[in-house]
Amino acid sequence: MAGRLDLPEPDAFTRTYWDAAAEGRLLIRRCRACGRAHHYPREFCPHCWSEDVSWEAASGRATLYTWSVVHRNDLPPFAERTPYVAAVVDLAEGPRMMTEVVGAGELSAGAELEVVFREGVPVFRVARGAATG
Ligand SMILES: [Zn+2]
Repeated sequence: MAGRLDLPEPDAFTRTYWDAAAEGRLLIRRCRACGRAHHYPREFCPHCWSEDVSWEAASGRATLYTWSVVHRNDLPPFAERTPYVAAVVDLAEGPRMMTEVVGAGELSAGAELEVVFREGVPVFRVARGAATG
């Protein structure tokens, strides 16, 4: 069946992540063996392969790494949403995350962003109070 491609289909492992997102909290995974955080959630650490990894609440702060404005996407529901800003951001905790930047604001590399939630999915916007030039 054709589900919406932008909404999560949680499995037993990622359900914790999506449940938190539905409550407006962004979770990341932190490895107790090497101390590094990662995203998207995995059951083992992608840096050292340790399985001693636990959930941690992220600050929700990030900086913009790269982005592109998508003008054409025929897949629902993206078609009605174009143009939108597909972005890669660096979370304050370190992990790099593929996401979308929403709302107004001048985008520049390194721009300060903050997480917001759209239908339980974390996206980012230019942080309020961030210096804009
Ligand atoms: Zn590790």
